[in-house]
Amino acid sequence: MPDIRPTVGSGALVLNATYEPLCVVSVRRAAILVLTAKAVCVADGDGILHSARDALPVPSVVRLTRFVRVPYRTHVGLSRRAIFARDGWRCAYCRGPAETIDHVFPRSRGGRHAWENVVAACARCNHTKGDKTPAEMGWRLHALPAAPKGAAWRVLGHRAPDPRWADWLDLREPEAAA
Ligand SMILES: [Zn+2]
Repeated sequence: MPDIRPTVGSGALVLNATYEPLCVVSVRRAAILVLTAKAVCVADGDGILHSARDALPVPSVVRLTRFVRVPYRTHVGLSRRAIFARDGWRCAYCRGPAETIDHVFPRSRGGRHAWENVVAACARCNHTKGDKTPAEMGWRLHALPAAPKGAAWRVLGHRAPDPRWADWLDLREPEAAA
């Protein structure tokens, strides 16, 4: 095994042979995948990794050389980070920077903690809304909240993506409410 020093960077994005995002691993793990020909590097990060025999650029995105069958996950975990990521870190009511999570139908009145009832919100809108519904406030939701779909959420729900991964994660704004 190469002696790869712990290094810069936030990890490497692993893509399936089909370019579908799979997970994020340490840069060291990604380098080992490349050195053992289990993956090829498709985007470099910053710096060079040195082992006894090799030197290779720090991998930022690697693609597996053989297709790996992954059980299709229908559920994206409902985490604070995932909610912010789904809503583009913007308030569902005023589109300003979001720093809180709001339950559209208030929890105090039986609203569920579920993808369909949570949105990112700025502190001001959240506080002003209190335990009212958007309809009672005369407010409109920018988008209808729903559970996110797609392979990119294997990554997006857990961590902030490296900007170099954007091409493979297909980052999109949520659809506007009808
Ligand atoms: Zn707001």
